[in-house]
Amino acid sequence: MIFLDNVIFENKKEFTTLILLYNRYYPPKKINEKFTNVKTYGLKTIGYSFTGKEIIVLEFGTGSFQIGAWCGMHGNETTAIRAIDKIFNTSQYENRLQEIVETITFSCILCLNPDGAEAYTRENAQGIDINRDFHNKETPEMVLLQKFVLEHKPIFKLLLNLHDQRSIFHIGPLPASLSILAPSYNHEMEINETRLKAMERIAAAMKLLPMDTHPYISRFTDEYYPTATGDNFTALGFPTVLIESGHDVLSYERNLSTDILVEMIVGIFSSVNEHIQNFKDVYNQIKENETNACDELITDVKIIGDDFNYNCELGLYFKEVLKSEREGVIDLVPVLHKKSQLNKQLGLTYWKKSSAKEYNFPNLTLDDYNNLEKGSPLPFTLYKRQL
Ligand SMILES: [Zn+2]
Repeated sequence: MIFLDNVIFENKKEFTTLILLYNRYYPPKKINEKFTNVKTYGLKTIGYSFTGKEIIVLEFGTGSFQIGAWCGMHGNETTAIRAIDKIFNTSQYENRLQEIVETITFSCILCLNPDGAEAYTRENAQGIDINRDFHNKETPEMVLLQKFVLEHKPIFKLLLNLHDQRSIFHIGPLPASLSILAPSYNHEMEINETRLKAMERIAAAMKLLPMDTHPYISRFTDEYYPTATGDNFTALGFPTVLIESGHDVLSYERNLSTDILVEMIVGIFSSVNEHIQNFKDVYNQIKENETNACDELITDVKIIGDDFNYNCELGLYFKEVLKSEREGVIDLVPVLHKKSQLNKQLGLTYWKKSSAKEYNFPNLTLDDYNNLEKGSPLPFTLYKRQL
């Protein structure tokens, strides 16, 4: 079992937890500050968000293999823009970019939801999840994305739909640091030419990121989501690769996840024309992720009833809250993910385990326990801030 111990202070008597993140906030003004290397790429404003913020596309390369991509459809998912930043704004990848500059053309929306990115919310300024707006087209951002993809000439040969996922995703005892999918286009989850092309591109990149050295790469279930963007672009004949970055074995800052995503994207770039014999097998061998992890498991919590006492377990989930826009600080606030019945164990994979005793955790009344619902904050102060 791997614990993300660097996140948690060991000062257990004080219940102190370090749960502030400094690298995850990536608002539009940071894009303007960081993306200035216009010798390597071009920048183009293609439209505006609901409140009028610019939506900017990075354009790289002169090759015939056209790749379209978008980051930040959900404003609180920033690993993708951090990876694109690293690929194009550091000298580290100069040579690898040089090798493919005449092979691919990469057009990437740097942040599709700048209002959400500024407020650190999943939804846009209208409170709508853009990823569920493919058919309604109520958000200017979705209208723009469809125009970007459908009107692009030459036609995109591959789309990269870049997201982050929550820390509940895991592969056995490991967090799923990167999950990929060639999305379905119908409820039968049939495989057609379009999906095969996406699978082959994933398999080609996976040759550079083999599972034995990258065990935290996983595959999503290919269940069909009729309103989701990737599923719909696949249905329209665009080979689409969904990539969702998760948290990593080292920290909630997702620094390692950013590096894995960089390798995945650069791997896709450098293998676009490779034909992989057994690509379906390579794709299917990527382990499917599970959704049964929690951030912290508190064991041996005592519940005091009228006639009896018993122990339970509380699985906690860390909700991400923007604490300071100016300083770019994200706070992780523990809420209930799952609770046990009587003394049954929850059977969750967890990134940190603490016993109530060890924490001098308060006893719960039966009412406290019964009122705890999924997503609800704890009825007592478990964590005190380290000042
Ligand atoms: Zn997302």
